[in-house]
Amino acid sequence: MSDDEFRFETRSIHAGQEPDEETGALMTPIHANSTYRQDAPGEHRGYEYSRTGNPTRTDLEENLASLENADYGRAFSSGMGSINTVLNLLESGDHVVTGNDVYGGTHRIFTQVYEDYDIDFTFVDMTDLDAIESAFREETELLWLETPTNPLMSIVDVEAASEIAHAHDALCAIDNTFATPYLQRPLELGADIVSHSLTKYLGGHSDVVGGALLTNDEQLDERFGFYQNAVGATPGPFDSFLVLRGTKTLPVRMDRHCENARQIADWLEDHPDVDRVYYPGLESHPGHEIAREQMDDFGGMLSFELDASLEETSEVVSNTEVFTLAESLGGVESLIEQPAPMTHAAIPREERLEAGLTDGLVRVSVGIEHADDLIADLETAIESTLR
Ligand SMILES: *Cc1c(COP(=O)(O)O)cnc(C)c1O
Repeated sequence: MSDDEFRFETRSIHAGQEPDEETGALMTPIHANSTYRQDAPGEHRGYEYSRTGNPTRTDLEENLASLENADYGRAFSSGMGSINTVLNLLESGDHVVTGNDVYGGTHRIFTQVYEDYDIDFTFVDMTDLDAIESAFREETELLWLETPTNPLMSIVDVEAASEIAHAHDALCAIDNTFATPYLQRPLELGADIVSHSLTKYLGGHSDVVGGALLTNDEQLDERFGFYQNAVGATPGPFDSFLVLRGTKTLPVRMDRHCENARQIADWLEDHPDVDRVYYPGLESHPGHEIAREQMDDFGGMLSFELDASLEETSEVVSNTEVFTLAESLGGVESLIEQPAPMTHAAIPREERLEAGLTDGLVRVSVGIEHADDLIADLETAIESTLR
C-alpha cells in the first residue's frame, strides 16, 4: 500500500497487511515460529531466525512506519527496549541533552545505566529553548525530548528543538508516546528518530507491552536492525499481533480520548476544589499555541491540582468507581493516579514541589467511556472526600 495514496485512517487498518495469499485470511497470521527452512545453505525467503525477523513483526513495523510517515520502522519488546536501542548508538565520553521531566524509566536508564558507561546527561526545562541551546557541548550527540510531558503536559517546540540539535551536529530523538502519530508526527517537524511505547495508545487495550523506533535515515535504521538482532529486545509474534489489532482503531479511539479529555478539562477548570488544570487544549495552558501548531488535537492525558492535602488527595483517587487507580495510560479504560506517592515517588519532596508536582496533583488517562459518567465519577469522589 503506497503511503501518499491513502489517509491515516485507511493506513492504520491496512498498511503492512494483505490478506494471506494461500487462504485469504484477512488478519495477519501469528507466526509462532523460531526458525525457517532454507532452500539451500544461506538461501532463504527473508527470514532465518525470529530474533532477526518474524513476518508478524514485519507487518507491524511496516504499519507503524506508515503511520509516522517514516521510511523505516523497528519494533521492540518494550518502550524501554526501544529507548535503550537509541542509547546503544552512543559511545563513552558522549553527552546527551534531555528534559528535566522525562518519563521516569527514561530518567532511570540515563542515570543508573548509561552514566556508568561514562555517558553524561544534562536535564533542562525543554520549554526554554535558550536552556536547551546552552546545555549543548562539543561532545553532545543526542537531544532526547518528550512532548507533551508527564505529568504537567508541558509542550516542547519540536521544530525549534531539532533545529538546535542539528546546528550542533547532534541527533534529535523524540518519545511520541503521549501524542501518538495520529496527533503528532515529529519526523515531519525535523526530528531524526521517533520512539514509542506501544504499551500505551498504539496497543490501546492495556494487554501488551511493546516499543518501536521510526526514522527516515537508512543508516540509523540499519543500526537499529543490528541492535534488534545483537541485543535481542524484540517482540514476539503474539505481542506484534495485539499491537496490529490496536492500531486499526487508533484514529477512532484517539478522537474519543481527545473529546472526553476536553470535556473533563473544561469541567475541572470551573470546579471550586480545583486550583489548576494542565491540559494543552486549554487556552490557559502555557504550551497551548505551540500544541495547536504541531499537534492535530490535544490528546487524552491531563492533570489537575486539588486544593487538598496529600492524604485527602489519596482518598479522592481511591474513591472513584469508573476511573481505576493505576499507573500507565493510553488504554480504552480511564485511569487515575497521584504522582506524588506513585509515578513520581522517587523524586525527593522538595525537588518535586519545585517542579510543580504538588501533593494535590492528580493525573488521569481519560478513556473512551461516556464523558458524563467520567465527570460524575470525579464529582462524587471529590465531593465525598472534600465536602
Ligand atoms: C510507558 C512509557 C515508556 C516506557 O515504555 P514501556 O513500554 O513501559 O517499556 C516510555 N516513555 C513514555 C512516555 C511512556 O509513557
